[in-house]
Amino acid sequence: MDIRLTHQQIHDAASQAFDRASKINGGKNASYIPYLANIDPLLFGLSVMLPDGTAFNFGDTTYRFGIESVSKVPTAILAMRQHTPAGVLDAIGADATGLPFNSIFAILLENDHPSTPLVNAGAISACSMIEPKGDSDAKWKAITDNITELCGSAPQLIDELYRSESATNFNNRAITWLLKNYNRIYDDPDMSLDLYTRQCSLGITSQQLAAMAATIASRGVNPVTHKQVFDPAIAPKITTLIATVGFYQHSGDWLYTSGIPAKSGVGGGVMGVMPGVLGIAAFAPPLDDAGNSVKAQAAVSEFTRILGLGVMNGDRVTVAG
Ligand code: GLU
Repeated sequence: MDIRLTHQQIHDAASQAFDRASKINGGKNASYIPYLANIDPLLFGLSVMLPDGTAFNFGDTTYRFGIESVSKVPTAILAMRQHTPAGVLDAIGADATGLPFNSIFAILLENDHPSTPLVNAGAISACSMIEPKGDSDAKWKAITDNITELCGSAPQLIDELYRSESATNFNNRAITWLLKNYNRIYDDPDMSLDLYTRQCSLGITSQQLAAMAATIASRGVNPVTHKQVFDPAIAPKITTLIATVGFYQHSGDWLYTSGIPAKSGVGGGVMGVMPGVLGIAAFAPPLDDAGNSVKAQAAVSEFTRILGLGVMNGDRVTVAG
């Protein structure tokens, strides 16, 4: 079926989705990272960006929150830019674990690879792959430059979050050294973990995440800067990873109900990609039991429901001004 959407329809759907999701409560801020436990639980923002750069924003869309696991997406893209999608498949894998994001059991079950760059194990492994090897500052620059290119503006490190995570990331330290045991850390293990922890501690806005999502939806062309950030062949690969594991052990339920591949983070962010059509991002701190924002999920799935969008629907969607 052909679906033709106007800017007005997209604006109105986002506005309604925001209003309805505002009334949904429940969930709790992540408590295992002290900084996140103290963020105002009432913050809520929803941003949509179209491939032509048109943006629709509702609520707290300029508030910088912890990007957390959404950072796994840009760094997976960077690893593919540097090593090709086939290289990432070989070094890390592309399988959903069906287990929590920080599962050690998942590594033991699949001792031949860390499963996917979008769980903690694979993301730490991806950080270890980033070039130039052995140079923490240069690797950090590559990671943040890539995010800046994808968003069209720079993220900012939240120092307090970085300190808070570094002081409490014992589980991730165990993951790193277990992966080292399986030869799946491709640089210094402590440096790789530190880069992962730092990238999770970047502050980002829902407006920036919507731009990143729109860049992926536009096969690597940033709608704000018009720059081709990555090879178009990477777009379906990263969207596949997002679809299969973006919501951890609830990824199937999520795609089934919302119809849109999306990645969540324990900072409360959700970033969704509708290939060729739009990018969407929502942010609200309280999380469900799997670590996914309750309100952000509601806003994004309500938006796709109102417009009848779904990546599996087989519709040809065009957006006119
Ligand atoms: N920094 C968090 C961790 O490694 C990210 C988890 C997430 O957002 O899912 O535990």
